[in-house]
Amino acid sequence: MCGIIGITSNKPVSSSIINSLKKLEYRGYDSAGIATILDGGINEVKCEGRVKTLENNISKIKMLGTVGIGHVRWATHGAPSTLNAHPHSSESVSVVHNGIIENSTLLKKFLVEKGHKFKSQTDTEVIVHLITEYLKENDLKSSILKMLKKLHGSFALGIIFKDEPDLIIGARRGSPLAVGYGPNENYLGSDSYALKSMTNKISYLNDGEFCILKKNSVEFFDESGNKVNKKILELSSEDTSYDKGDYKHFMAKEIEEQPQTIKNCINEYLDKINKDINLLNFPWNKNEISSVTLIGCGTAYHSCLMAKHWFEQLTKLDVYVDIASEFRYRNNRFKKDNLYIFVSQSGETADTYAALDLCNKNNMKTCSVVNVVESSIARDSNFVLPIHCGPEIGVASTKAFLGQMLVLYIFALKLSYIRKDIDKENYLKKINSLLSLSELVKKSLDTDSQVQSACNSFVDAKGSMFLGRGSSFPIALEGALKLKELAYIHAEGYPAGEMKHGPLALIEDGMPVVVIAPRDDYYNKTISNMQEVIARGAKVLLITNKSTDEVFSENIWQKIEVENTDQDLLPFLITIPLQKLAYHSALKKGYDIDKPRNLAKSVTVE
Ligand code: GLU
Repeated sequence: MCGIIGITSNKPVSSSIINSLKKLEYRGYDSAGIATILDGGINEVKCEGRVKTLENNISKIKMLGTVGIGHVRWATHGAPSTLNAHPHSSESVSVVHNGIIENSTLLKKFLVEKGHKFKSQTDTEVIVHLITEYLKENDLKSSILKMLKKLHGSFALGIIFKDEPDLIIGARRGSPLAVGYGPNENYLGSDSYALKSMTNKISYLNDGEFCILKKNSVEFFDESGNKVNKKILELSSEDTSYDKGDYKHFMAKEIEEQPQTIKNCINEYLDKINKDINLLNFPWNKNEISSVTLIGCGTAYHSCLMAKHWFEQLTKLDVYVDIASEFRYRNNRFKKDNLYIFVSQSGETADTYAALDLCNKNNMKTCSVVNVVESSIARDSNFVLPIHCGPEIGVASTKAFLGQMLVLYIFALKLSYIRKDIDKENYLKKINSLLSLSELVKKSLDTDSQVQSACNSFVDAKGSMFLGRGSSFPIALEGALKLKELAYIHAEGYPAGEMKHGPLALIEDGMPVVVIAPRDDYYNKTISNMQEVIARGAKVLLITNKSTDEVFSENIWQKIEVENTDQDLLPFLITIPLQKLAYHSALKKGYDIDKPRNLAKSVTVE
């Protein structure tokens, strides 16, 4: 969600800032801007819309400053417009901000009384005027410290000064920020991915810290202004330049990549020779954990719900699931023998990070399931389980969802074995099934033409429902979420057995309903619920798995069958046609599939 870049160099920086902003585009944004210092003045260019437009605007003028900041904005306060785009500047200082200043109304009042004039509707602009105010009587560092003390909320900041043509301030609380080191230049960025084309030497700011970047030096400070020593990490130099190849969209590519990403992940965790799962350096022994709490947001929350099912099936642990934005504000009973598991693709999700932080402050056992291993959530957890699926660029998560489920399943299975909740024979059987998962997922990709023929009815519908029981319920939620976020079609995921307690009233003639009913322990029950919605006029798309038994197929509108495998693994196979349903529906409606409206990839605000 939004992104920040800063570069201080001995050569003009605007084109490198633009290139790095392009790397941040995947996060989702609505406007962009850049500011550099030139001839003792602040030179600012901003626009609504894409970085490409910003690039065109800059090419018409000469932006020769050797220190600069850039931003892609995801509006929280004030409409997406050129006026509200960052950077925001006064005569003396220019600021880019990611996050939300919660006390901006109060601060604005104080500043207006002091004579400051505001140009935008953003919360960010108070930062500009606070620094300008403090600079009247303080040196630069004290002004920054005073300003930071005034702010409530979350932020990552990049700040440049008219009178300092070699200096950038970076600061963070809640939102991520990285520093990169180059020859005669240094960089600030929201993530290392954005800096990777310039350097693989990176440090991360911890919460509350700020830094002073000059082209030949970088200094870090804690929130009291004391100097902090930082480790410089060398990131792998493998090329992460990422393109769509022959695909129309990143999402299409990411869906098709899933057999490979599953294989990669299984190769990381499974010892194929000894038929065992490796959890290297797992820090606790089995007696130290008697319950598990899984925490996430959005799609990651659905993978937590799925994991609850597996943990309960495979182990005798008590299992709880929570939405991060709820968990962080509840009066939680922290328990020493509880393992808290945080799931986030980016590892920067603000609510999930805050929930982790809360657990860390209470000295709890914390474990994270992330895609980005250099992320804040990974760095601040006791134990990390990476999902190894490579960068995910499409805003709507696909391969990361399968990756999260896979790692959580592998983890549950291993804990089950360590705890002796499962016997060796069953454990080995499930490991063998895992080894064939990638091939079976590949076969699910063949459902494309069937999905395409079904999606017309969804595109034209007022709304739709996705029903499932047991392990199919989280998948129903995820299928509905995908259709909402990509095709902007109202979709509800519901436990099939709950329909008669209310939502059945929504069913009307011709309404498309997806029923997820693999031949598992709940099959007959779900099929009965399916008949109940059919009897009320629903057009049912049934998703099940192949079997020699006949499906009770009367009155079913369409049916998609995935391969047969261990019950535990069927959710992986069923997810694929649901991802495709959302993709093709959005395609038919002509929407921006990789960047759905109003959404951002890495949700770094509350
Ligand atoms: N709250 C700020 C704004 O609305 C920053 C938003 C962002 O993180 O992009 O301008």
